[in-house]
Amino acid sequence: MHTFLIRAYFTVARFYFAEYERATFFMKKFPVLILTMLLLFNLSGCGEPEQIKYDRDFFAMDTYIACQVLSADEELAVKALDAAEAAFMDIDRLTNRFEQSSEISTVNSKAGVVPVKVSADVFAMVETSMQWSDKTDGAFNILIGNVMDLWGFGTENPAVPTEEALVEALTRTDYHKIVLDEKNSTIYLPEKGMVIDLGGVAKGYATDKAVAALKDLGIENALINAGGNVYVLGKRADGTPWKVGVRDPQDPEEIKKVLQGRDTAFVSSGDYQRYFEADGIRYHHILDPADGYPARASAGTTIIMKSATIADILSTSLFVKGPGEGINLAEKFIEVDAAMIITGDGKIYETKKLRDYVFDN
Ligand code: AMP
Ligand code: MG
Repeated sequence: MHTFLIRAYFTVARFYFAEYERATFFMKKFPVLILTMLLLFNLSGCGEPEQIKYDRDFFAMDTYIACQVLSADEELAVKALDAAEAAFMDIDRLTNRFEQSSEISTVNSKAGVVPVKVSADVFAMVETSMQWSDKTDGAFNILIGNVMDLWGFGTENPAVPTEEALVEALTRTDYHKIVLDEKNSTIYLPEKGMVIDLGGVAKGYATDKAVAALKDLGIENALINAGGNVYVLGKRADGTPWKVGVRDPQDPEEIKKVLQGRDTAFVSSGDYQRYFEADGIRYHHILDPADGYPARASAGTTIIMKSATIADILSTSLFVKGPGEGINLAEKFIEVDAAMIITGDGKIYETKKLRDYVFDN
């Protein structure tokens, strides 16, 4: 449309320059004036069909997931929301270890027995997780599964395990021992009782898949929020950036900081997301693989970067690391655009670039 108008503008202008001598003043100016107005109107975007917001909420991966898509075409928007929902359902089906039929459950049940053939998605999640385990000195560890089970996270009756039980369970968490066979797409856990838990990466991975599906359909503006795994694509209907509120771990109904951005993931982990209380102490779901206890150095973390998968891995890892080492690591990884860590006393630690994403009213 823009190219057409620009061409028309110059054709008319050329004609008037040629006939300039013979034309009256009104004839000289009027058509050029109208075309200029049309051109400006179109360039300002007022001529574009209006984009309307379509949203859908659903439950997957033990989390409420909210998707918003902007489009001028209702049929396309519904197709896009279907595709985003399918991405989460697919990854849930593959990774849910409380579902016997999932690929991850099969890998876990065949520990110490045989390698298991898996989909490209499960293979990629496990491979990427292992790479980032090395980069975070083991703060991220998908073999934390049997320790999670000891605490009873994900069951009706969570409870504090004994020290001996924890020490014993930790002997089966050496992720270096996971055997990946890329050619045959198999995963092998060499010791009985080893349990892979993709809870720290699967939502981010599904978010990336959902965003890819939206982009494939030509959606340019959307927001996906999968329980703190947020991806913002393009901008809001009024042309302003999408805003993302970071919850206050001390009072999760309140927002500690408002961030904004486009075409990026904002992934948060927090001690308020999943926990149980025993004898007045809160035990949450992010475990320090060094001792098997809930990590205490942080109360909330937020990572801003293009890949929601790696942001998910890092939000969990930096939570374990705590503000000192965690912020240093975030500054070191070139893939990370910005990060913040909130501690139990409410202090905020952030990388230098975080201010580029802060929305201040
Ligand atoms: P997130 O909410 O992304 O921080 O992930 C937390 C989930 O990851 C937990 O519910 C566990 O399923 C799993 N998890 C807990 N601790 C770790 C850890 N140190 N490394 C990897 N995954 C973990
Ligand atoms: Mg995570």
